[in-house]
Amino acid sequence: MNGAHRSGISYYNIDATFSHEFVYWHEFGHWLKNNQPELFQEMLDAAEITDEQIAEKKKSRPELTDDELREEIICDAMSGVARRTGL
Ligand SMILES: [Zn+2]
Repeated sequence: MNGAHRSGISYYNIDATFSHEFVYWHEFGHWLKNNQPELFQEMLDAAEITDEQIAEKKKSRPELTDDELREEIICDAMSGVARRTGL
């Protein structure tokens, strides 16, 4: 596990297999879902995540529901969005 967001706190694994920047933005995405659910829903709607993307993500996280996989896909994209927009 690279990181986690629980009860308003983000945790980062010092031995994460992804960069800490990636993990930070990924966990920020979970924070955003919990604290700004309307905005997160707008992001989900705009992303138009395909069934193929969900199936691909399910290979690495088979325990998650499709809605949870959509959340993970958005959170995975947060680092790239932050980089492209200069956040
Ligand atoms: Zn996640």
